[in-house]
Amino acid sequence: MRQGFRYKLLALALLPILVGLSGTFLIVTNLAKSEVKANAHAELKVGTNVVDQYLASRANDLTTKVEILASDYAIKEVLAYGDEASLGSALKNHGNRVGAKFAMFIYADGSAPVFTDVEFGQRFGDSVTELIDENLDSQKLSALILNDGVYQIFGAPVNAPTVIGFLILGFEANDVIVEGVKTLAGLDTALVQVDGGEISILSTTVEKNTQDGWVSPNAPIQQTFTTQTSVGEFISLNTEFHSGDSRVLIAMRRSVDEAMQPYREARNTMIFFSLIVLAIVAGVALWIARSMAKPLHLLTLAAARMSRGEYSSSIEVTSKDEFGILASAFQAMQIDIAEREMEMQHQAYHDPLTDLPNRAHLARSVRKILDQQTPRLTLICIRFSNMPKVVSSIGQSSGDALLIQAINKIQSQLKEDALLFHTSTEEFFVLAENASEKNTEQSVSEIVRLLLNGVATEHHNVLISANCGISEFPKHGDNAEHLIRAARIAATDALDQNVSVAHYQISREEQYERQIRIINDLPSAIADSDLHLVYQPKISIETGELTSAEALVRWEHDELGFLPPDEFIPAAEQAGTITALTKFVLQRSLIALSKWRSERPDFTLSINLSTRDLLEADLPKFVQNQLDANGLPSDAVTLEITETSILENVERSLKTLNRLRDIGVRISIDDFGTGQSSLSQLHTLPADELKIDRSFVANLETDPASEILVQSTIELAHRFGLLVVAEGIEDEYSLRRLADLNCEFAQGYFISKPIAQSTFTKWARDYVPQGYREQRNHATRSFHPKDAGAPRPLHGVSLVQKAKTAPRK
Ligand code: C2E
Ligand code: CA
Ligand code: CA
Repeated sequence: MRQGFRYKLLALALLPILVGLSGTFLIVTNLAKSEVKANAHAELKVGTNVVDQYLASRANDLTTKVEILASDYAIKEVLAYGDEASLGSALKNHGNRVGAKFAMFIYADGSAPVFTDVEFGQRFGDSVTELIDENLDSQKLSALILNDGVYQIFGAPVNAPTVIGFLILGFEANDVIVEGVKTLAGLDTALVQVDGGEISILSTTVEKNTQDGWVSPNAPIQQTFTTQTSVGEFISLNTEFHSGDSRVLIAMRRSVDEAMQPYREARNTMIFFSLIVLAIVAGVALWIARSMAKPLHLLTLAAARMSRGEYSSSIEVTSKDEFGILASAFQAMQIDIAEREMEMQHQAYHDPLTDLPNRAHLARSVRKILDQQTPRLTLICIRFSNMPKVVSSIGQSSGDALLIQAINKIQSQLKEDALLFHTSTEEFFVLAENASEKNTEQSVSEIVRLLLNGVATEHHNVLISANCGISEFPKHGDNAEHLIRAARIAATDALDQNVSVAHYQISREEQYERQIRIINDLPSAIADSDLHLVYQPKISIETGELTSAEALVRWEHDELGFLPPDEFIPAAEQAGTITALTKFVLQRSLIALSKWRSERPDFTLSINLSTRDLLEADLPKFVQNQLDANGLPSDAVTLEITETSILENVERSLKTLNRLRDIGVRISIDDFGTGQSSLSQLHTLPADELKIDRSFVANLETDPASEILVQSTIELAHRFGLLVVAEGIEDEYSLRRLADLNCEFAQGYFISKPIAQSTFTKWARDYVPQGYREQRNHATRSFHPKDAGAPRPLHGVSLVQKAKTAPRK
């Protein structure tokens, strides 16, 4: 990242300069080039004028020289009278004097011309005379091309006094013309001969090896044009020096490269300075990048450390600039995050109410201690079994305060190295290393005793009943989760066995697994209708009439066999599947009820509800729907609830009960007498019926206290306007006694065991009602089995029923 940033900054600094400079170079170069070209064109144009003037004045000059010579007396004399030899030598002398290359004299009478020397005459005489014949009357006789170059020929008549002939002088043109033009126009010049397609350079002002590209056969005359040659680009211009079959051109040109030379030098200087500027800028940019990258790098490292969860090291950016500010903001953020993380960690591992380490903390701590190869570890699970009731009577906030006080009591009994955890609302764990069995037991007993003595808060003093379960390493396992679960199972055992402390029993594991199995299998059992219902008849004691039945659920498990409801109902309640079960029972039993009512219009049915059902807000609606679906009046159904189930959550339970009452279904208080509350506490409940628990009915005969309790219960219930049902009647004596006590209804094995729906109709048809009230005068002890031997059959059917199905319990 550091490198990337550096290069980016460098690019940012250099790129604009580079682009700017290149653009400028390009523009300036192009401008210079077009300027140079325009200048060259102009120069060449001027050059043509110079050439014309130069040629004209040269022609003038040379013509004058010939005329002066022709009028010279001495020469006239030699021409008129001299012999051929003296004439030749005179021509040579005079010609040399005016700078002519050759001279000749042509006689007007047509006799043979005389030349500067014989050899010249022999070689060129013919072409000269031919030329002169063609142009005799013109002043400038034209150019003559000989094999050593181009010559300009000028002539003048010689009068003595009449014309005796013509004096002709030939001047060499090649180098003279080229040099002359170069001097005057300042341009590279060449004299070029174009003979058809063939081009030859006669003379040039430039080096021999740069002669190519002077003239192209199609090049225009008197106009500038551009040529690209092997030695560079040129702007050229040709003017005609001599026309005819073989043309001679004066070619002038200007080298663009040469003209560009000064510009090029200027450009190089510019590049040189630009490079210096770039180097400086690059240096500065690198310096800035370095000074920025270093703190950024440090911040990056700090961020990486933070993402790894290290918050301790500080960030060493000392500068006072923005980076320094950023670094201190970073530092502050680091501290904040560290604090928040610690807080979150604390929250994750502590109970929000008590601030004690929680369940996750417990598992972690046990694992840690086990990892340290400790020789011994003890886990104590402490559960406050009466806490829900306490909270519902003293309220949540007092309950919370109570919990804190209770914790203080527990902690006062713990050894220094023992740790206390708060694992769920009413559950605590003590984790002790190397505690002896005896010490553990002592502290636990002391804790239980202290709690049971009462825990005081501002407004209350509450007795807390605690059940404790103990598990140990290595005795009960070597795995944290297992040990924790074992302590929990032991605590449950303690509650079930009604003792304050229980040690984990390895055999409990099996039971525990069976319970888990039951919990897991129940939902599919409901869905697959593996459950079925049985019905236990209920009769009017006074008339003996069959008035009602109680629906009871049965589960024949594929592998575990028959499961008593006392086993799977609490499990379903714990697992939260009980509502589904209740709905199943309601659905099935109401269908049966509507069938029975077609024969017995007043027949009613009792159905059991459990604690959780009372917290289910949509239950009343469900009941109503089922009633409607089966065309049943609401008072055909009685819902049985226990006092303990209401006490779990009085407010919500009452709400549900009242709504059920509004629908019109009847409410019965089941298992009455087993709970801690008295009837006077319960009479405010929206109930119609009271069901005296079978444990009291069973002892009616043997236990006078039971009889008193049953009697006073019936009386009080009647005072509160409740009908009374006695359940668990197993003998006639109890039935008659209950008749004496004015109990309205009876249910029990003596009348019938719970029976399947299919046999219920037949049972009901065969049943012969028999009133018991009328016989109450005879209902003496003589009816007691002990006195009268075996219980006398009340009616055949019930005895058959009884004989057929042996009591399960
Ligand atoms: P419970 O509501 O008190 O039901 C009466 C229990 O007493 C039934 O046991 C019944 O078979 C038994 N019983 C009836 N007459 C006699 C008798 O003369 N002597 C003796 N010793 N027992 C008698 P069961 O069917 O095993 O049910 C046990 C408990 O399971 C029930 O007590 C009830 O609390 C619960 N339960 C059963 N079915 C359901 C249900 O559909 N829903 C809910 N929520 N609970 C149910
Ligand atoms: Ca019941
Ligand atoms: Ca009962």
